Amino acid sequence: MGIAKRAMAIKPSPTLATAAKAKAMKAQGIDVVDFGVGEPDFDTPENVKQAGIKAIQSGFTKYTPAGGTDELKDAVIDKFKKDNDLAYERSQVLISCGAKHSLYNIAEALFDAGDEVIIPAPYWVSYPDQVLLNDATPVIVETTAEEGFTLTAKKLEKAVTKKTKALVLNSPSNPTGLAYDRKTLEEIAAVAVRHQFYVISDEIYEKLLYDGFKHCSIASLGKEIKDLTIVVNGVSKSHAMTGWRIGYAAGPKDVLSAMANIQSQSTSNPCSISQKAAVEALRGPQAFIATMNVEFDKRRRFMVDRLNAMKGVTCLMPVGAFYAFPDVSRLFGKSVNGKTIRGSADLAAYLLEDAQVALVSGDAFGAEAYIRLSYATSMENIQKGLDRIEKAFSRLQ
Ligand SMILES: *Cc1c(COP(=O)(O)O)cnc(C)c1O
Repeated sequence: MGIAKRAMAIKPSPTLATAAKAKAMKAQGIDVVDFGVGEPDFDTPENVKQAGIKAIQSGFTKYTPAGGTDELKDAVIDKFKKDNDLAYERSQVLISCGAKHSLYNIAEALFDAGDEVIIPAPYWVSYPDQVLLNDATPVIVETTAEEGFTLTAKKLEKAVTKKTKALVLNSPSNPTGLAYDRKTLEEIAAVAVRHQFYVISDEIYEKLLYDGFKHCSIASLGKEIKDLTIVVNGVSKSHAMTGWRIGYAAGPKDVLSAMANIQSQSTSNPCSISQKAAVEALRGPQAFIATMNVEFDKRRRFMVDRLNAMKGVTCLMPVGAFYAFPDVSRLFGKSVNGKTIRGSADLAAYLLEDAQVALVSGDAFGAEAYIRLSYATSMENIQKGLDRIEKAFSRLQ
């Protein structure tokens, strides 16, 4: 009797937990401003919805091949060629139920007990837990704001041991909104090639970039690094399709083949209807993305400027995704109503209870000094939420 050790070692996704708590408060009629959200507030584009409706009406509602349709794989292959100058065959591509599922398949396919997986912090919440769920050991390497929250080759080299199986990269990053430039990626690639470990590259925010920042996929930096890299991407963030659950991965044939086998014995194919919609997302008009980014860009600058104007808060200007990630550690140790704010979790709880603002505390991302605010919400909400935060912060003594 009892629950498996690996299941006991993990916690529910803290970002989804925050979302659930904010939703519950809203259901009670409380006017919560929600900066916890991890999805675009835009509607799925109309042409994509229509492709889904057409799939239903034409009876495309049965099993597809477990690893996804050839039609969608080919759309993904063309996307990699066009956007990233990466050539893959169908056998090197797997369509899954969201990028999170792609990442989980990778973890199951690659990790054994005793393997070490290097994860730079701040990290996306699910990376360490997916490693733990597969009996391997996350090795967290901290990066700093001064480094632009990017891992240096020097720090990576120091963390590598004989047991290193993989490195997880996320650029542009959730939660920091920062991204890796080509030169840093070249240096990281050299370390991976020298020591022969895999690179898992989560590029889900590739299309959400500002100030002309150019995305670079580490897999595109030469044949040797391409043979070690599994690239993960999806339509959730780029096309406001979080509910449709379509993500994909591409990489070495043996790894992708193992992932396909795992998927065929677990979930089978991702939703047939969503696959049709994803083909339209990838092959149809892309103007939606630019329109969305113009809006995100305005909110980004507004939010970050206001945060930096608050006493005790410093925030880097993100270049991608839709999060601001301010350092709030100078507020720690202050008190309000006889309660002391000891860390980021306390601060987030204080803001939710006393100011009705939901956000995620930095400890969820392995970065205690920070909080994460999503600007995937209306300008009106952003204004209102920041007013509340400013007031709440000014009450801290
Ligand atoms: C949202 C997100 C994902 C998961 O996306 P889905 O396709 O909805 O599963 C993966 N990685 C990061 C960094 C994300 O923010």
